[in-house]
Amino acid sequence: MTLTVLEPATEAVLAEVPRAGPDDADAAVARAKAAYPAWRAVAPPDRARLLYGLADALAERQEELAVLEARNAGKPIGDARGEMGMVVDVFRYYAGAVERNLGDTIPVTGGVAMTFREPLGVVALITPWNFPLTIAAWKLGPCLAAGNTVVLKPAELTPLTALEFERIALEAGLPEGVVNVVAGPGSTCGRRLVEHPDVAKVAFTGSTAVGRTIAAGAAQTIKRVTLELGGKSPNLVFADADLEAAAAAAPWAVFGNAGQDCCARSRILVESAALDRFMDALEEVVEGIRVGDPLDEATQMGPLISAAQRETVASYVPEDAPVAVRGSAPDGPGFWFPPTVLCPVAPDDRAAREEIFGPVACVIPFRDEAEAIELANDTVYGLSGSIWTRDGARALRVARALDTGVLSINSNTSVRVATPFGGFKQSGVGRELGPHALEHYTEVKTVYYATGG
Ligand code: NAD
Repeated sequence: MTLTVLEPATEAVLAEVPRAGPDDADAAVARAKAAYPAWRAVAPPDRARLLYGLADALAERQEELAVLEARNAGKPIGDARGEMGMVVDVFRYYAGAVERNLGDTIPVTGGVAMTFREPLGVVALITPWNFPLTIAAWKLGPCLAAGNTVVLKPAELTPLTALEFERIALEAGLPEGVVNVVAGPGSTCGRRLVEHPDVAKVAFTGSTAVGRTIAAGAAQTIKRVTLELGGKSPNLVFADADLEAAAAAAPWAVFGNAGQDCCARSRILVESAALDRFMDALEEVVEGIRVGDPLDEATQMGPLISAAQRETVASYVPEDAPVAVRGSAPDGPGFWFPPTVLCPVAPDDRAAREEIFGPVACVIPFRDEAEAIELANDTVYGLSGSIWTRDGARALRVARALDTGVLSINSNTSVRVATPFGGFKQSGVGRELGPHALEHYTEVKTVYYATGG
């Protein structure tokens, strides 16, 4: 049995890879379990050296991996290069963290207590198709640095860079069994990993619906779980902002990765007094977006991942939708969808409430700061967001009032290797990246030493 992997820009078959099922998941867990005692025992400086070596090996293959990711996920080659650069940076960062995985000493009655951060054992990583190797790296870096062994299950649609990663890790000298990749369906192979009694933790990124299933499945064996889930993030534009800068950035906060981004600021909340000026500037930018072949250096937006995804996205733009701007997209084979801006959208409209995961932005006008905050928080999600204003005090006041994990002021960026990333509410549990991620791949152990004093 094989998985047929498509190229979304052409709909042509890119690869056939072995399709892993529950038995393969069991075998991978057994390999990871066998490798765990020795990997855990590797002295921190040696584990750090191995992870630096892995980062160097990935850097050597960076361009090849970028092209593979661009073709398989349909993302512009420039974006794919940036992502592979981040993958390398993540392994360098966590290689450096191995020797800083510190505990505390705590003076207590009759002795001293100390804490250690111990690895968990075998960890299952289950990842989505939108940033395939990048999101895997966010988990692999801290997980391996902490001394765990891994079974990674990439999304069925985009397994190719993960399979390459497994080979690169071996070539870079990581012992056999430390990294295991199973490319199979979530409903069989993924489910088995979630239920497996020898898996200590599941680190999941994907939809909120599947996240619920994972949390419920993991509860049976009290597994540790971290979840990075969906979003419907706000982009708040106040009338005193640099409107040209806000309008130039806003499209990329939605149409980057063709909108298939958990951080997409797909609700653009604009102060009514500035709506017309903002929309004029936005229109010009959206109409200029170059949608096309991911391998063309000039391309800014590629296709959607699949025909099913395109159908879902199209359902949010019915005949009577208030389309204010529609960009262009190629005809012919490929899962294309033009960048689309809806304005004005009522806050209770389906397009304004649900994660679309495609290049569709909703513009929602607001009267004042209080209403902006209320609208921004009126969602089950809380992943990211942006605030555009020249009033510094307001920027911080609003940032503190928003129920969301990652915010930027006068910028549309969310992710940095050294800073925690993750969601409030139904956008997830736990944090990726930065020092916080390491904590999610370790248990705290307290040891008391009686000194008689
Ligand atoms: P998905 O939830 O359909 O699948 C994610 C992964 O889970 C895949 O590997 C899939 O095979 C697996 N899976 C599916 N059913 C399973 C089951 N029953 N048991 C175990 N594994 C199972 O998500 P997707 O469509 O690949 O990705 C899109 C979603 O991911 C969006 O909702 C997006 O917001 C979210 N996402 C979140 C973040 C974040 O960091 N918060 C980042 C990227 C994507």
